Amino acid sequence: MKTHPFNQFVERLRRQLADLSRQQLASVREIVAAFASLTQCLELIEQHGRQHPGCPHCHCTHVHRHGYAAGLQRYRCRACGRTYNALTNTPLAYLRRRAKWLPYLACMLDSKTVRKSAETVAIHRNTSFRWRHRFLAGASLQRPAQVQGIVEVDETYLLESQKGSRNLNRPPRRRGGVARTRGITRQHDCILVARDRAGKTLDWVTGRGPVSACQVARCLRPVLARDALLVTDGARVYRAFSQAAGIAHKPLNQHAGVRVDGQYHLQNVNGYHSRFKAWLARFRGVASRYLPNYLGWHRALDTRSIVSPEQFLLAAIVAKPSMHGR
Ligand SMILES: [Zn+2]
Repeated sequence: MKTHPFNQFVERLRRQLADLSRQQLASVREIVAAFASLTQCLELIEQHGRQHPGCPHCHCTHVHRHGYAAGLQRYRCRACGRTYNALTNTPLAYLRRRAKWLPYLACMLDSKTVRKSAETVAIHRNTSFRWRHRFLAGASLQRPAQVQGIVEVDETYLLESQKGSRNLNRPPRRRGGVARTRGITRQHDCILVARDRAGKTLDWVTGRGPVSACQVARCLRPVLARDALLVTDGARVYRAFSQAAGIAHKPLNQHAGVRVDGQYHLQNVNGYHSRFKAWLARFRGVASRYLPNYLGWHRALDTRSIVSPEQFLLAAIVAKPSMHGR
């Protein structure tokens, strides 16, 4: 709108607003806030698109603008002829009501439950659940490439959960969730965590039951810097791995009561385990298949790698793993 007509519009608006009740003013404020949030959301999406140009279908960079759809620039690829926008082939494609995305991500930064987030931004609980996992699908992939120096590694276990599944593949547990046998069994999901002294943290869900040497190698080998010194408990799997990989290793014989040996201890990684479990408690049990998402969510909050809804949104826009890069 040009300056002159805009000034007239503002003048007219001012006169009309003066006649509104407090309640009516509140709903006008809501409408304006939603528009502002939508505009900001679309700008962030386009900003991401400009930083990752090229066709998501065939990766060709010979593309041209092809109108707008739902507020987003559409492009057409000259090589494959298909159209796309900045969200095509990301977990956020086809998610609607973008005006509510940033307010929703603010709820996630506050670790609100599905129900509480749904109430706060006025969406259905099922939508809230779907959004949570769509946003986490991308954001949980943001992780440091490497851990270095003194690296504390330890595993922790959670009782496996089929929350939300229609078909249980075992007899149901009584409420409260207690394992049927003592110790670590196939009823537990194993979470392996590596944390260096700079606070860089990596986690993996290795599967059911105790972690194996093979799993330790698969997780740690690609991410340990050459100079890394692995600090672990006395479990045989870590010794086997460090010997095979030629990584310096300091095992602590915790069974013999050795918890600290000079600068070597597992307090950082064990502290991380307990913060994760304490944080997870508010969700009253999460399904095993979503554990990687929750680990990623907690990691982003705990290491402060995501501190704003805007940053959360940009982290969530990634090509789906089935598409190799963009
Ligand atoms: Zn193409």
